[in-house]
Amino acid sequence: MNAPRRTKIVCSIGPASQDVESLVALIEAGMNVARVNMSHGTYAEHTITIENVREAAKRTGQIIGILGDLCGPKLRITGLPARLHLVKPGDQFILSEGEPEEVPQKLTITSLGVLGEVAVGESIAFADGAVRGVIEGISDEGVSVLVTQGGSLAMRKGVNLPDSHLSIPAMTDKDFADASFLLEHAIDFLALSFVGGPQDLTLAREFIRSHATTQNTPRLVAKIERRDALGHIGDIIDVADAVMVARGDLGVEIPVEEVPIEQKRIIHMANARGKMVITATQMLESMISAPTPTRAEASDVANAILDGTDAIMLSAETAVGSYPVDAVGQMDRIARATEGIVSDQSLTLLTHPTRTIHSTADAIGSAAADLSRHLLLKVVIAVTESGHSARTISRYRPSVPILGATPDSFAARSLTLSYGVIPVVIPRSPSTEVMIQEAIENAIDLHLCVSGDLCALVAGIPFGVRGTTNLIKVQIVGEGFLSITDRYQDD
Ligand code: PEP
Repeated sequence: MNAPRRTKIVCSIGPASQDVESLVALIEAGMNVARVNMSHGTYAEHTITIENVREAAKRTGQIIGILGDLCGPKLRITGLPARLHLVKPGDQFILSEGEPEEVPQKLTITSLGVLGEVAVGESIAFADGAVRGVIEGISDEGVSVLVTQGGSLAMRKGVNLPDSHLSIPAMTDKDFADASFLLEHAIDFLALSFVGGPQDLTLAREFIRSHATTQNTPRLVAKIERRDALGHIGDIIDVADAVMVARGDLGVEIPVEEVPIEQKRIIHMANARGKMVITATQMLESMISAPTPTRAEASDVANAILDGTDAIMLSAETAVGSYPVDAVGQMDRIARATEGIVSDQSLTLLTHPTRTIHSTADAIGSAAADLSRHLLLKVVIAVTESGHSARTISRYRPSVPILGATPDSFAARSLTLSYGVIPVVIPRSPSTEVMIQEAIENAIDLHLCVSGDLCALVAGIPFGVRGTTNLIKVQIVGEGFLSITDRYQDD
């Protein structure tokens, strides 16, 4: 039996993967979280995708999270005269917001009020950075752009203003409507695109609080893809539950050569603050049309894991690619090979920081990680109401898997992004001892330990009160909860 993979895999779902059979195959290949991208598709299509993910999870008996990804204030080309389909350095055109106009030298973009905030001399990028220009002048007619890097333009291609300090919030009217739709469908994670600062997360939290009909609200993921966000990265991580290194737009907003270092910095800061982090975009890009990845892509996946990422994400590879299941299988194998080396060499390769201790739960999480190394435990078992204990242990990266056993299926799904956590749903019982026993039996069934192995048990007593992690016990599997562990007793 293979050791369980620690790094989580997020798959974007699209035409190549949205039917139940394909989703079952993705889950069997290793998908932990399905991403529903609100930039594409209709509510009817997203509803079917969400229902299909749940059906596939049921058929495979796996716990699968759903991440709804809002499109945010993405600027796109909305009006493109024929003479601007191909532009070359030195060409000039006028950029405006609003209704497309039949004016030969005028290009229109999504109307979000951004052109009132740009300044002469700032740069502008189109079509993922394939075409670049500089703002030369601003008049009543619009913003005049001088092309510095030529290429082809097409309708709906993206537009980025990397130098401009834009005050537009990360949630547009469409995002509020999409968030309501996703809340109705009880998704597990909600990602905000083009976050500019912590205020965007606060606004989203207020919206969720006022629209949610249950306390099971989705965890908020801040996508880091604007240059502005990098200036507030610590504050953003503090208010988010997770961050995504969204390298697609980030690599347009900042020079591509700076993306690797920013990736390391964001992951490092998320680890230090105990927040989950997803590394995304172009991880196995060539597998959109080829059955195997390039060596560089394999190294990229491995390096993100060595940087300390909790999760790695596939975009077009699984949404529209020709080899979605192979891409997940390949990610799974790269992750296992990388994690194997990391644990063989103990901590020598894993130098990323862990969160400092701020609470009893942190101290217990840290102690569980220390015990896993000192006592060569086989598993750390967290019996948890909200998932908090398991998430806290994950922050300190124990050397063994963490079983997150909870009677709450929403809490179980909330653990699908956390490094090293295997979520299971156990029956609720008034007796904590019975629930602990149930969790241990699950650990044995999942081949995480056998009778006679040492494990650590973590729980909150009284059980059922969210966020009270106050118990840690080292136990020999197969012996009663109240037995004394004597394997390492002093002389
Ligand atoms: C990205 O830009 O890297 C990203 C993940 O966002 P999207 O796929 O929504 O463009």
